Amino acid sequence: MIVLIRQPGISFWKGTNNKGIHLVNWKKVTSPKQLGGLGIRKARDANTCLLGKLVWDMVQSTNKLWVNILTSKYSKGPNILHATRTSNSSPSWSSIIKAKNILCNGYQWRAGSGSSSFWFQNWSSHGLIGSLVPIIDIHDIHLTVRDVFTHNGHHSQALYTILPPTIADSINNTSFRFNDRVEDTFIWSYNTNGVYTAKSGYSWLLCNSGSVNNQQPSFVWSWIWKLKIPEKFKLLIWLVCHNAIPTLSLLHHRQMAPSATCLRCGEDEESILHCLRDCRFSSQSWLQLGFADNGFFNEGTAHNWIKTHATRALSSLFLAGLWWTWRHHNSMCLSNDSWSLPHIIRNIHHTVADIENAFHEVPGQHAERMIRWNNDNYGCVVLNVDGSCLGTPIRTGYGGVMRNSAGFFLEGFSGSIATTTDILFAELTAIHRGLSMAIEKGIEVLVCYSDSLLSIKLLNNSTSRFHAYAVLIQDIKDILSSRNFSIHHCLREGNQCADFMAKLGAASNEEFVRHTSAPYDLLPLIRIDAMGTAFPRALASSFFLFFFPFVPFLAL
Ligand SMILES: [Zn+2]
Repeated sequence: MIVLIRQPGISFWKGTNNKGIHLVNWKKVTSPKQLGGLGIRKARDANTCLLGKLVWDMVQSTNKLWVNILTSKYSKGPNILHATRTSNSSPSWSSIIKAKNILCNGYQWRAGSGSSSFWFQNWSSHGLIGSLVPIIDIHDIHLTVRDVFTHNGHHSQALYTILPPTIADSINNTSFRFNDRVEDTFIWSYNTNGVYTAKSGYSWLLCNSGSVNNQQPSFVWSWIWKLKIPEKFKLLIWLVCHNAIPTLSLLHHRQMAPSATCLRCGEDEESILHCLRDCRFSSQSWLQLGFADNGFFNEGTAHNWIKTHATRALSSLFLAGLWWTWRHHNSMCLSNDSWSLPHIIRNIHHTVADIENAFHEVPGQHAERMIRWNNDNYGCVVLNVDGSCLGTPIRTGYGGVMRNSAGFFLEGFSGSIATTTDILFAELTAIHRGLSMAIEKGIEVLVCYSDSLLSIKLLNNSTSRFHAYAVLIQDIKDILSSRNFSIHHCLREGNQCADFMAKLGAASNEEFVRHTSAPYDLLPLIRIDAMGTAFPRALASSFFLFFFPFVPFLAL
């Protein structure tokens, strides 16, 4: 049995007989899985994130008894993010404040109605603006954030008060969207829905502390955890890829073994690749399984060797082979028990059958659905919209096409978004721009199709008041409720013209372009849609299973 032990300064995988060795350092073990770790949370940080749930309860002023008691006893202002610890604070309050001080930079002010005081509420990243000026002009004292930010021209020109130049610059380069139905609030900025969770708190801490290096692409490690094999196989592969299985080469390097030479064959140093592939006690199994080509035995690093063969055809056979080669090595070296080749091959084939049964879908259970433009046959003006986030560096854009029910092009639009790489924002912007254009054109009845299921859900249901885009969502809802406009979800296959326009927008530097005639390259797609061409869409059987009603199990 192996237990994970943490001691001050050092950490290791340790056998229960107290003779374990350090295989992978603690910092690596506690990194997220996609960055090469095991995703184990550090106890101290995990505790901070759980305390963060209490901070969140206080930020949103839930009407809980403990929130009311602590707020009235310790918190002077309405906002816990400014609260401090005093000498007579209880241990509970001290812990909450400690967690708040660590997490408070993850919160940000989100504009709603804009009715917050420009001077005396903490809406900017500079702190209270009122505290940054020696005197506030009497004409400005009651100004709200909205009063200043809806001023035409430079926002700072709305004021009689002189602001410090850096603050004035920052304000002039900031813009907000306002909607009277949405309240100004603090939101948790690391979740788009604005709601704090312990999980997002932990991710934010990792990013903020610099322990997560976002430079490294996640595919370097995430392939291991996507493999459809038992967890113990993944752990072995993870150790191999970290050069951390206790081969004689590693033990000798750490002066824990007198020699690095393989005890089984005595022919070579027992490196990881020798142990798992090249030693004649291992290679005979691989050859018997049919892995005989030169490339198989020539790959120079264990990481590449395993990744190449684990993500190809015959991956189950390869992975089962890897597992039993390691087990055979251990059996020979630790128990002095050598297995016959047929015994190993039989074990491997049994394991392959188990993996196939447990993890792989039965083929041939896919249903097909035909998808085309305006799939629901609406007889009014049809607007298709889409967002796009593609490329390195990522470019964000949006676009849409408005047609009559026969598929005749009426008008299109496209644009790029420089401020974000969030696809949800691009999708919502596309919807808002498209609907606004329809209003300008005086269209009375319209259906809008978007392939963003999340956007449709946000627009058709009540939205969290903390959502980062709550104002934009409310603006769209206001348009939809005041006119004979409706919004529907469509699949990608029925939204190809909008997809074209969104990519056109992302590739441009224009913030918004109206297209009164269809771009030349769009014409074939328009023709295909107008002819009612249908495209097949494969749907996995699990999709249907999800919608079957489950019969409740009644205990007798
Ligand atoms: Zn050997």
